[in-house]
Amino acid sequence: MSASAKLPPFDAADPLGIDDLLEPEDLAVRDTVRAWAADRVLPYVADWYEKGELPGIRDLARELGSIGALGMSLTGYGCAGASAVQYGLACLELEAADSGIRSLVSVQGSLAMYAIHRFGSEEQKLQWLPRMAAGEVIGCFGLTEPDHGSDPASMRTHAKRDGDDWVLGGRKMWITNGSVAGVAVVWAQTEEGIRGFVVPTDSPGFSAPEIKHKWSLRASVTSELVLDDVRLPATAVLPEVTGLRGPLSCLSHARYGIVWGAMGAARSSFEAALDYARSREQFGRPIGGFQLTQAKLADMAVELHKGILLAHHLGRRMDAGRLRPEQVSFGKLNNVREAIEICRTARTILGANGISLEYPVMRHATNLESVLTYEGTVEMHQLVLGKALTGLDAFR
Ligand SMILES: Cc1cc2nc3c(=O)[nH]c(=O)nc-3n(C[C@H](O)[C@H](O)[C@H](O)COP(=O)(O)OP(=O)(O)OC[C@H]3O[C@@H](n4cnc5c(N)ncnc54)[C@H](O)[C@@H]3O)c2cc1C
Repeated sequence: MSASAKLPPFDAADPLGIDDLLEPEDLAVRDTVRAWAADRVLPYVADWYEKGELPGIRDLARELGSIGALGMSLTGYGCAGASAVQYGLACLELEAADSGIRSLVSVQGSLAMYAIHRFGSEEQKLQWLPRMAAGEVIGCFGLTEPDHGSDPASMRTHAKRDGDDWVLGGRKMWITNGSVAGVAVVWAQTEEGIRGFVVPTDSPGFSAPEIKHKWSLRASVTSELVLDDVRLPATAVLPEVTGLRGPLSCLSHARYGIVWGAMGAARSSFEAALDYARSREQFGRPIGGFQLTQAKLADMAVELHKGILLAHHLGRRMDAGRLRPEQVSFGKLNNVREAIEICRTARTILGANGISLEYPVMRHATNLESVLTYEGTVEMHQLVLGKALTGLDAFR
């Protein structure tokens, strides 16, 4: 028998055999999230996207809680305590359905819950985390402001002490989940530096008008946060962190999920293009039989599976406690940039059908325009890597 007869067959869905790296528990997590998204998101998401809404978001959140997807890699307080790889696989499956659903989960788990879990008091953790893990309370994370995005250190939102209380004033912009949140983690300038505050959204002076007219992440709630002298007790501040290190470490955790998630949007677009190329005929034969189409498909598959392999590598480093923020920047920069490129190429293979919501490709491509910008733009991650490589800070 020749050596090649013993080789496993080529699998178009996993050409590098990356699944061999997964444990049975990893596959179980992936299958659970994939089945949930197939049932609860895929049949409806084009319609939500077209209407620019995410109806039933509270039910979706509870269901995501019931499958353990919220605060998934956190431990205790009702969280699933999953590995970083398992969390990443969940992000990939959710974003293969829609980046808006993955954003809901990322903001809930990696930003709002992570901030409370890592920097909160025991009282704050007990008050919020179990209900957030169950999806009973939705959280949001307010860092960006109308005039301060990439440079959050210059934020104007402020918190001043008044007796034992804190009084918060300012505005936050582009906040995912804002209008549906029961709790907001808000970052503000104080006399001691930037601090995080856990703000119940029914506090007097707090409002969260929804941002309309988006052409990206349409199946996701995005809002402004208005803080008009919001009075909070002394216990509202996150006690364990002062300075930008607080929000940046939350962002690093969420970016890690995006490294995986972006490959989900890319996989969905690749699959749509491959399927179409096999069945669509021009000049008397399937367009997948033309060399130019095959070159596109081969290049897309190479970038898709390189990106998934990179995500795995970073996940294993995170599980080993060895993942540096610069490595997360490496992954976010590469995978989101390549995912958009894959979606754009897929769109060309679908021809005119590529612009239709009947296919997922254009929806993913426009969603990824937001993903390219939020959690640090391409340029910010280039600057992070540039600084790490040269030792020279080029941010200002
Ligand atoms: C749909 C959506 C959801 C979001 N959700 C949240 C959320 O939940 N919470 C939250 O806090 N924020 C959220 N954001 C905001 C997001 O994080 C910011 O948009 C992002 O940080 C960029 O800030 P900006 O839009 O103000 O762009 P700017 O910072 O104004 O940047 C504009 C351009 O200038 C470039 N630039 C800036 N500085 C430099 C420099 N030094 N060198 C070179 N180029 C530079 C940028 O890379 C970019 O290309 C969301 C955004 C979107 C679109």
